[in-house]
Amino acid sequence: MRHRIAVIGGGPGGLAFARVLHRHGHPVTVLERDPAPDARPPGGTLDLHEGLGQLALDKAGLLTEFRALSRPEGQAMRILDTDGTVLRDWRPRPDDRAHPEIDRRQLRDLLLGSLDVRWGQAVTQVVPGTGDGARVHFADGRQETFDLVIGADGARSRVRPAVSPVTPHYTGVTFVETSLDDVDTRHPGLARLIGAGSLAVYGVNRALVAQRNSGGHVKVYAQFRAPLDRHPHLDPTDAEAVRSGLLAMFDGWAGPVLELLRHGTAFVHRPLYVLPVSHTWRHVRGVTLIGDAAHLMPPLGAGANLAMLEGAELAESIATGSADPDTTVRAFEERMWARAGRWAQMTTAGLERLVSPDPAEALALFDQVQPS
Ligand SMILES: Cc1cc2nc3c(=O)[nH]c(=O)nc-3n(C[C@H](O)[C@H](O)[C@H](O)COP(=O)(O)OP(=O)(O)OC[C@H]3O[C@@H](n4cnc5c(N)ncnc54)[C@H](O)[C@@H]3O)c2cc1C
Repeated sequence: MRHRIAVIGGGPGGLAFARVLHRHGHPVTVLERDPAPDARPPGGTLDLHEGLGQLALDKAGLLTEFRALSRPEGQAMRILDTDGTVLRDWRPRPDDRAHPEIDRRQLRDLLLGSLDVRWGQAVTQVVPGTGDGARVHFADGRQETFDLVIGADGARSRVRPAVSPVTPHYTGVTFVETSLDDVDTRHPGLARLIGAGSLAVYGVNRALVAQRNSGGHVKVYAQFRAPLDRHPHLDPTDAEAVRSGLLAMFDGWAGPVLELLRHGTAFVHRPLYVLPVSHTWRHVRGVTLIGDAAHLMPPLGAGANLAMLEGAELAESIATGSADPDTTVRAFEERMWARAGRWAQMTTAGLERLVSPDPAEALALFDQVQPS
């Protein structure tokens, strides 16, 4: 008998899960809140690691397409002092495929392929049954029952309460994101400063990071430590107030670096929330979580990779495993918790060092993970 399986959320984790299950000929229902694939700006570039996100794409049969789309040169990293002195200027070898960058939109389209997603399906809660399966409740009042529900619905998961009472907490660090378009033509000086990949400048308890996406688009992240209730001038509807607030916060930094803020177009406020480092739960029959829903952690290049690998591994185990998917899910959860726990520990320690009272910590961390 084929089990009725639903995945809530069409992000990297949910789509990787659906795509691998589909590849094995198993039907799967993808329920996504967004009304259409392009309903929201997709966010910045993602680096996909060889043993993580790229492994997931391999399991989905999409590695060749990924290699054609991704930007290995985007792995380049330049670090400046706040006075503009170049401290590090690392470039990948031409054959380096350790963690190439890809735009989120390109990744989503690649994973979507011919998958049949049900758009505009906002889930409000999932109620595990007393026997098998779980009931999915939708915002419009409908309900639907599945044998297995996978919560891949991100940081503010509506599925999570079905297995765990834990909610994310604020890290003390906020990112304010802004963008530059057509940078090579409109801001050639900044384009040269950023290079082919990322530029980072670390100061005391604050940092500025610029990342090149495809098509001359650049995302800039102003990062700083502040209590949640003390974010000056961050009303996103008043871009000029945010800009001048940030320019005051980074006052004294090199002129070319501040140009990143002066030319930024729209500002998005992203206080960083996380789940506890080792978030586990007592297994609940018929429901599980993957990705940010299971282990929200600081955004240091792991979250999408883990979400995708978890989705791909769980789908593969269900498609090839025992008749009762519950046994498969239990074993999967143990593996996911162990691996995600290690990454949560690393990224939590990493955030402490990158947005730190001592900027030398950020440089030391870079030298540790990117020697020579
Ligand atoms: C600034 C920044 C930079 C980052 N850079 C990287 C990087 O370089 N590499 C990396 O690996 N990770 C990175 N991350 C982390 C990465 O974005 C996340 O870990 C990843 O997107 C998690 O994937 P997911 O599928 O679990 O959840 P999400 O990507 O959050 O997707 C969840 C999906 O569920 C849908 N959804 C939500 N609620 C509901 C609901 N109630 N009903 C139905 N659908 C719902 C959402 O619309 C969304 O489509 C970064 C994060 C940030 C903030």
